[in-house]
Amino acid sequence: MALEEPPELLVGLAQLDEGRCLSHQGVICQNCRAACASEALRFDVRFRPEVEAERCTGCGFCIGVCPEQALRIVWAREWSQPVDD
Ligand code: SF4
Ligand code: SF4
Repeated sequence: MALEEPPELLVGLAQLDEGRCLSHQGVICQNCRAACASEALRFDVRFRPEVEAERCTGCGFCIGVCPEQALRIVWAREWSQPVDD
């Protein structure tokens, strides 16, 4: 019997456009930080955010709260891992 290929999963990840982000232009804004329950938006010592990919679930909650539309979700294709019994 031929093995079936594992199902393909779509994985979302927030992507930040620094050119649009207020905090990257020197205006303090932390709207996205407050919206992210996964703490995937990390702010550096100059209060500029970056997405920590390992923590981001792709939920999209950060997108609607950004006044500059600086965040969007990009989709990556990943193969699911085999499940050990
Ligand atoms: S998509 Fe969700 S988990 Fe990822 S940075 Fe935005 S709010 Fe956080
Ligand atoms: S909400 Fe938008 S403008 Fe504000 S810090 Fe986050 S990405 Fe930048």
